[in-house]
Amino acid sequence: MGAQLQDLDITTLLVVHQMLALISTVVILAGAIHAKGRFGLWFWFGSFAATAGFQLLRDYGPTSETPSTAALMGQYGVLLNAAFILLAVKSYLGRPLHWRLIGAVTSLTAAMLWILSRSVPEYALPLALTLAVAAGLTAVALSDLLHAYRRERGFALGFGTFLIALLLGRLLLRGMIAIFPTGDGPVLAVNSTALLVFIAALVMQGFAILLLINDDLQKKMMALAEFDELTGLLNRRGMANRFKRLHQRALRDGTPEINLAVIDIDHFKTINDRFGHAVGDQVLTEMARRLESLVRPHDLCVRLGGEEFAMFWNGAPADMAAAMAERIRLAIGIRPFETREGLLRCTVSIGLSRMRPDENLEDFLDRADQALYVAKQGGRNKVVALAG
Ligand code: GH3
Ligand code: MG
Ligand code: MG
Repeated sequence: MGAQLQDLDITTLLVVHQMLALISTVVILAGAIHAKGRFGLWFWFGSFAATAGFQLLRDYGPTSETPSTAALMGQYGVLLNAAFILLAVKSYLGRPLHWRLIGAVTSLTAAMLWILSRSVPEYALPLALTLAVAAGLTAVALSDLLHAYRRERGFALGFGTFLIALLLGRLLLRGMIAIFPTGDGPVLAVNSTALLVFIAALVMQGFAILLLINDDLQKKMMALAEFDELTGLLNRRGMANRFKRLHQRALRDGTPEINLAVIDIDHFKTINDRFGHAVGDQVLTEMARRLESLVRPHDLCVRLGGEEFAMFWNGAPADMAAAMAERIRLAIGIRPFETREGLLRCTVSIGLSRMRPDENLEDFLDRADQALYVAKQGGRNKVVALAG
């Protein structure tokens, strides 16, 4: 009677466990479809789908009657789950995925499992192999997350790290139960306490994943809000943030001479009027590419709006700044732009200013604008630097 009751508990818990895994899978699938083309979500989805799918196969599939094959299915689920989690974590952290390496390790282990399950009567060896590999993959994910958490902090990252640590613990626990069975059926010898732990871990894992995904989306949105959609250059908002850092670094390095060139395309309206807006856009994009090729990695290249750009750089004396502005002017004017309407020539006028001590960004930009105005008045295709 007692044994039957315990059987019922375990069956119920197993069903709850699998329902939860299934629901999480569906939720993440919906998220992945909604977020079109975002890799990270597909990996999280893969991690849940692999576990849920193989567990269903193990318990209800055509081979569920053969204990060794059923066990093998369960192990495949565990292995794939770990591989997908590692890929998801790498993608979340913006690291190289190393998917070939991860794929190779996973496939090789899967093949070994299959061979071992045919040739070794004991389950312990194939089980130990899967769990060791799965734990290894999870440990790499954990170490990546830990490093990122040490650097960046943040609740989502901290919680995610904690949960992947729990997941590793869960894997090890699962291993202990499976390798050192308490009853007579080795692999499926789960007990209800362990299942409760699994369920709790599953729920928290789902929660952590949602947090990480949310955090990821927020970071991407913040980053997007700092860049201009057409040219990929910084926009005004991005400029304000980066300028602060550029200024601080300049002060720290003892090279506080920050130069600013405001660059405006001459008669851009005529390009739009004659060839259409799309051709105008092509010119703007190519312009951005040329400007970017002139700056060093820590200089700033900004699209202020319309056909107006700005470049900030520091550490050069005034005459060199004028020479740099001249280089910019020539880099644009000398070579025609390739567009779908053929080659187009255009020129730019440039206003140059040098930051005064204690000047704010607005005033700094204002003075460059005044210089630009003088350049336009003076006939365009010119560099003008205001004294001071
Ligand atoms: P100037 O030499 O005095 O600078 O003359 P301009 O024609 O370049 O200056 P104006 O400010 O009169 O015209 C700027 C034009 O830039 C007007 C606007 O239609 C166009 N423009 C602004 N943003 C975009 C954009 O994103 N794409 C395209 N194709 N055109 C844009
Ligand atoms: Mg213009
Ligand atoms: Mg303009």
